[in-house]
Amino acid sequence: MKIGKFIAGERKAKNLTQRQLADALSISDKTVSKWECGKGLPEVSLMLPLCEKLGITVNDLLSGEKVSEVDYQKKAEENMVDLMKENEENKKRMVLSVICGVITIIAVCSLAVIASFLEIPAAARIGLLILAAATAAAGTGAAAMLDAKAGYFECPHCKALFVPSMGDYVKGVHTITRRRLTCPECGKTGMCRHRVIRQ
Ligand SMILES: [Zn+2]
Repeated sequence: MKIGKFIAGERKAKNLTQRQLADALSISDKTVSKWECGKGLPEVSLMLPLCEKLGITVNDLLSGEKVSEVDYQKKAEENMVDLMKENEENKKRMVLSVICGVITIIAVCSLAVIASFLEIPAAARIGLLILAAATAAAGTGAAAMLDAKAGYFECPHCKALFVPSMGDYVKGVHTITRRRLTCPECGKTGMCRHRVIRQ
């Protein structure tokens, strides 16, 4: 919110409309509007061109205010640590998601093998198979939840980064690194790349 208000203020100080700023950066004015409403940060590759247009530094941008000479170093370090923390948390979620998937596969396979090959009553066999199915559903769900929240998806059309809703995530056809999603920025649907690190 603070960064958004800062961008709006600096834009107005330069006598630019949202459209003029968007055109200068070859993005949609909806994207600029989202930044200014605090609904998203400019992606890293846009930060330098944006700051150049507004006559501010990236450090000012990430701090949401003009940083004085005295505070400069301190603010720069804080901003860097914030970005690194976010990346680390996303990596952890990604690793957890993979571990969760592997445990699920092992558990389901073991249960299926026991149910198929062990000399047990039919009722116990069915019970084990139901348990295997339930484990598969729970494990897949947990892995998907962690994966969806780890990092961002990148729109192939406008390069916007976004986190999809759980519903859209589950519905999206996918490969290992891409998923078919509708971009909230430009409204186009495409195979969006999953990026864990914001860079
Ligand atoms: Zn897009």
